[in-house]
Amino acid sequence: MALVNEHFLKLSDNYLFADIAKKVNAFKVSHPQTRVISLGIGDVTQPLCPAVVSAMHKAVDEMASGDTFRGYGPEHGYDFLRDAILKNDYVARGIHLDKDEIFINDGAKSDTGNIGEIVRWDNSIGVTDPVYPVYIDSNVMCGRAGVLENGKWSNVNYLPCTAENNFSPELPDHRVDMIYLCYPNNPTGTVLRKEELKKWIDYALKNDTLILFDAAYEAYIQDEDIPHSIYEIKGAKKVAIEFRSYSKTAGFTGVRCGYTVIPKEVTAVTLDGKKRIQLNPLWNRRQCTKFNGTSYISQRAAEAIYSAEGKAQVRETVAYYMGNARIMYKSLKQLGLEVFGGENAPYLWVKTPGNSSSWKFFEDLLYSAGVVCTPGVGFGPSGEGYIRFTAFGNREDCEEAMTRIKHWMGRDKE
Ligand SMILES: *Cc1c(COP(=O)(O)O)cnc(C)c1O
Repeated sequence: MALVNEHFLKLSDNYLFADIAKKVNAFKVSHPQTRVISLGIGDVTQPLCPAVVSAMHKAVDEMASGDTFRGYGPEHGYDFLRDAILKNDYVARGIHLDKDEIFINDGAKSDTGNIGEIVRWDNSIGVTDPVYPVYIDSNVMCGRAGVLENGKWSNVNYLPCTAENNFSPELPDHRVDMIYLCYPNNPTGTVLRKEELKKWIDYALKNDTLILFDAAYEAYIQDEDIPHSIYEIKGAKKVAIEFRSYSKTAGFTGVRCGYTVIPKEVTAVTLDGKKRIQLNPLWNRRQCTKFNGTSYISQRAAEAIYSAEGKAQVRETVAYYMGNARIMYKSLKQLGLEVFGGENAPYLWVKTPGNSSSWKFFEDLLYSAGVVCTPGVGFGPSGEGYIRFTAFGNREDCEEAMTRIKHWMGRDKE
């Protein structure tokens, strides 16, 4: 008789986006004439750029010929991609890493979800609240999150990010073993400036805390003083693991490629406290056992992002989405709504008017304007009273959605 991992039973069945889909479907049944516009789920809409497409075609041709066919690649990724990453994402910002500190993967979700395997199950964790659900749920699965009590996990330190603290979480008043940070942030679209991020590195150095830094939205940063990499902060190489993804950078949500950086200086301690162990070789060992590498075609696709044409084309797509963000930001502000984020990230975080709950506003917006958002409370208790809009839609849809919202709020005639 196989015994089940009961930690899985603690997870709620209702995945946020499944709940949303159910409500949207119910609306569509009763309103067959309305074209629903989704500014909800965080998926991109614009196609792959030409430089990426041609690199993929070329890679397929290589796979089609006996001379150039490739089977299993290195688990940690091909050198052509790791070299391009080092040169473009790091050396260009004054950061020097070794090639074997870069692990190519099939996207940041896998690695942010799996990284917890190389540290003990009973480390304490800290997450910003609201949060990307993967960080918490992956810890629930191994028992690290504890039990759910009043909507919060008993072993998770929640670091509220709200309008009151300008979405810059306060340092915990005690030590925490591991802290997840995601900046630019999903879901709030807010950022940490260099001196704010430095506070976290200083805390980690002082408290011997491991920082898990998710930089999936790095490409959306517009302002100068916002770090693209956590390693721009002095001392970070000792305490931080960084996750990057081409999903939002270059529309790779369906292609699958990203990477994780684990500097060799990052260590964790044995239970008896006597030895410090490097996490880099542990992760390498884990990957070599459980992962067989990202597809050659995806890695060639990713490499093409770093070519001159690739860079220019990707910049254009990012600019398109950020153009959407600007249009939405301006329209929503004009309606008198409190809007956050959206300036260095493709997400807008909006306070629901009249203290309405996230789900109440979600339904009002759906039934009155046929527009789908994501209820903030779905990302954690501190998300209550907010909703998230994404800027990943088509321009026409964004504009139409804003027109409908104006009409609904009765401000279209002003
Ligand atoms: C979209 C997203 C990712 C990227 O996930 P992939 O697996 O690379 O597609 C990572 N972190 C956050 C916070 C995200 O929103």
